[in-house]
Amino acid sequence: MLERKTGIPLAPEELDIQKITSDIYTIQCSVVGQDAHTQYTSWVITEDGVVIIDPGSYRVCTMLREELDRAGQSVKYLIYTHAHGDHIGGAAAFLDQELKVIAHENTLERLRRYELTAGYIRRINSVQFHFNIPVGTPQRRFPPVYPTETYHHEYRFELGGKTFELFHAKGETDDCTVVWVPQLRAVFLGDLLEASFPNLGNPFKVMRYAREWAMALEKAVALDPEFAIGGDCVLTDNKEINEVLSVNIELFNYLEDSVIRATNDGHNLEQMIEEIQLPPHLADNPYLKQVYSRLEFAIYNIWRRYCGYFDFSPSGLLPRPGREVAGVVRQLIGNDPAILHKAEELMNQGQLQLALETLDIILKVDYENMAARRLRHEILRKMVETDECLMSHNVWVHYLEEDESFLGQ
Ligand SMILES: [Zn+2]
Repeated sequence: MLERKTGIPLAPEELDIQKITSDIYTIQCSVVGQDAHTQYTSWVITEDGVVIIDPGSYRVCTMLREELDRAGQSVKYLIYTHAHGDHIGGAAAFLDQELKVIAHENTLERLRRYELTAGYIRRINSVQFHFNIPVGTPQRRFPPVYPTETYHHEYRFELGGKTFELFHAKGETDDCTVVWVPQLRAVFLGDLLEASFPNLGNPFKVMRYAREWAMALEKAVALDPEFAIGGDCVLTDNKEINEVLSVNIELFNYLEDSVIRATNDGHNLEQMIEEIQLPPHLADNPYLKQVYSRLEFAIYNIWRRYCGYFDFSPSGLLPRPGREVAGVVRQLIGNDPAILHKAEELMNQGQLQLALETLDIILKVDYENMAARRLRHEILRKMVETDECLMSHNVWVHYLEEDESFLGQ
C-alpha cells in the first residue's frame, strides 16, 4: 500500500488545545505524513470575553464552542487572518452570539470569487489535498460567514484590558490581517508564518505576493514579539521568532529579485526554472523544508505576477492544441513501441518528468492507450514514492489512481 498524503484532517475526534499562556490558546492539527501541520483556531481570553483569531473547521469550532460555554466564556470577536477555508470554516459555530466578525476589505471580494468558482475550487482541492470530492458536487457544506466589519489599512479595538491592533498585509493572499496584542507581546500571523517553505506559489491558484510578504514579516519583527502564532506553528522564543521570520524575509526577497532580474535579462520561464537555485543556507534551512510547496511553484508564481503567457517563441503565441502537435510527432515517428521504449528507458534512468512528457506523444492523441497508461502508472508510482512535497505528490497520486481505475487494478 502506498503512503498517501491525505491532507488536512478536518474532523478530529477530540480537541487538542495548546495553552501558550494563561490568555492565549491554539488548536493545531497535523497534516498526515508531514512535519508541518495546520492551525485551525487561536483565541485570546480577556476580562470581557473571548477573541477568536481564525475560526478554523466547523467541527473544531463546534467542540470549542461547547468548551467555552462550559467555562462561561462568551465570544465577542472573530478575526479572519485571511479567507482560506481552513481559517474561517468554523465561524458559523459562533453566530448565535452577539459578535463582530472582522476581516480586511479584500476578504469580501475573495469570498464572492470563491462562491463564483466553487466547482473549480472543489476540483483543485480534491487534487491538492487528496480529498475525495466528486466533480460537480453542488454545495459547500458550510457557506462562508461574511465579515460584519472590514477595514482598509489598520483596525484597532480594546476588550477587557487588552488591545488588538490589526494591520493589512499581502502574502499567501491579498486579504491578510496581522493581529498584534501588545499587552501579551503576541503576534498572530495566520499563514504568513509557516514552519516550512512558504506557500508562495500554487499551481492551481491565483498569485501570491513575495515582496509584500517580506514587508509584512519585517513589520512583525519590528514589534519584537515574545509569541508568534502562525498557520502551522507556534513560536515562543523571541530569538527563534527573529530567526524564522528573518530567513523567510531573505527567501522572499531573494526569489523576487532573482525572477525579476532574469525576466529583465531576457530569460524565459523554462530557463528560470532550470537556473534559479537557492543558496545553501536557504536550501538546507530546517524552517524552509519543501514539504508543502516547492521552489519551482514559487518561481512560476512570481513570473505569473509580472508577465504574460508568451514564451518568446513564435509558435508559442497561438499554439495549436497539444493533441494536434503530438499527433504530427507520433505520425512522423510511426512507431509506438519505440516511443514506449524511450519513455521506459528515461524512467529507468530516473528522468521521470521527461519520461512522462515523452509518453504524452501517445497519450495526448490516444488517452485510452493501454500500454502507455500502464507505463504512465509505473512512472507515477515512482514519482509518488520519491516526492516529499505535498502538493506535487498529491497530483501524482491523483493520476496514479486514475490509471489504476482505468487499468482495472
Ligand atoms: Zn491560507
